[in-house]
Amino acid sequence: MNVQIQIEANQTVLLCRCGGNYLHHGAVQFDCESVLIAFECEICGKHSTLSVNQHKGQTILEWEASSD
Ligand SMILES: [Zn+2]
Repeated sequence: MNVQIQIEANQTVLLCRCGGNYLHHGAVQFDCESVLIAFECEICGKHSTLSVNQHKGQTILEWEASSD
């Protein structure tokens, strides 16, 4: 199950699922319907992938489920 993204209140800083605000992005993959951005959290050390998907004219941002 994918996870809703969080952004710090009144800021534009993307938060890790642990609440940490030090995410470093890595590889970016894209095709005609989605963009996948890899991140590593400096706080918890987990690797996450943020997906940006098009669905019936809407743009959906969410964390993909990860195994760690
Ligand atoms: Zn984290």
